[in-house]
Amino acid sequence: MSTEKYIELEHQYVANIYHPLDVVIERAEGVWMYDVEGKRYLDCLSAYSAVSQGHCHPRIVDALVDQAQQITLTSRAFRNDQLGPFSKELCELLGYDMVLPLNSGAEAVEAAIKLARKWGYEVKGVPNDQAEIIVCGGNFHGRTTTIISFSSEPKYRKHFGPFTPGFKFVPFGDMDALVDAVTPNTVAFLVEPIQGENGINMPPDGYLKFAETLCRRERMLLITDEIQVGLGRTGKLLASQHDNVRADIVVLGKALSGGFYPVSAIVADKPIMGLFHPGDHGSTFGGNPLGAAVARAALRVLVDEKLVENSAVQGRRLIERLRRMESPYIHEVRGRGLLIGVEVTAEADGARRFCEALAERGVLCKETHGTVIRFAPPLVITSEQIDWLAEQVETVFDQIEAQDQIEHEEEMASTAV
Ligand SMILES: *Cc1c(COP(=O)(O)O)cnc(C)c1O
Repeated sequence: MSTEKYIELEHQYVANIYHPLDVVIERAEGVWMYDVEGKRYLDCLSAYSAVSQGHCHPRIVDALVDQAQQITLTSRAFRNDQLGPFSKELCELLGYDMVLPLNSGAEAVEAAIKLARKWGYEVKGVPNDQAEIIVCGGNFHGRTTTIISFSSEPKYRKHFGPFTPGFKFVPFGDMDALVDAVTPNTVAFLVEPIQGENGINMPPDGYLKFAETLCRRERMLLITDEIQVGLGRTGKLLASQHDNVRADIVVLGKALSGGFYPVSAIVADKPIMGLFHPGDHGSTFGGNPLGAAVARAALRVLVDEKLVENSAVQGRRLIERLRRMESPYIHEVRGRGLLIGVEVTAEADGARRFCEALAERGVLCKETHGTVIRFAPPLVITSEQIDWLAEQVETVFDQIEAQDQIEHEEEMASTAV
């Protein structure tokens, strides 16, 4: 079937909630993806950081296939031989006491909210139904009705109300606003260490440490959403480790399964996670043996192949190359590890056309917030591949600038006549 035909099918039969690039992928390996016409692309999105271990990593494939032939689902009505080992390995890796395993990222954020509220009522002594959670403007935590209740993006909310109360906004990175937002009923501050979806926004230096100190002082929990930036993406195991911050609840997803299968989790210490008792929460697939086996393999690959370290090294190599580029269309290059955003200037007329031109040259990126090109390749990327990628980006910026220059001159000529 042709590319057009697959796209037609999607238009006809699939709910229209995305605006993807018109590339139809049929297979992938490592950093490379191949479309139905056999064209090869360097994946610079990694499914929003879920395929950090590289596409179809053979060790994770083996774990998936082996486990699929043993047992895939018990539900939590019975125990299985993967959940315990998975939870122990994740706890030991991250230095926490306990895990709650779930499936999607949004579901894990929901669980973190429930846990923080329960802690607020049972430990902090907040009057029932009065708990407040502070969140940041420009946040992205998922798409459930409660989570969009505290989104600042009008598009995510329009016509989906009524919304869940109990959330209070502060501007991301604003320490004074954070202090002012605290009340005796505040149970938690929920924050992304770097805002990925909002354009790779980095907080000012010291912000996370300030937030951690404030949380301790005011007796509220620090919840970090590390779904996109955790597990090596920014060159540390957790992004909050750049600031020596240890959250009370860490939310994980995406790369936790290397992109094979939806696996998410929250981790916390026993005095907090121990507040959950039978009946408080549940999920038919959460902690299933197939997901747990896949996640165990995904974590082993991360550690054994030193992907966190590679993310730091290759990220530095890429950001230095991108920062050397001289183009009137580049406003700023920012990021950490292999999560890098190139924000284009107003004259550039949006990031999308750069993504389309990069796709032509075999690089698949997705713009975020209209003006930022995100580079988040799998963490297995090599120096040679980074250099090739940088060359393609340089060429695309040069080409688009030259093209616009010609068009501009033609316009000038026609108005002169
Ligand atoms: C992707 C993402 C989520 C939501 O995860 P889903 O698996 O899509 O529900 C939440 N928070 C952040 C920071 C994310 O990047």
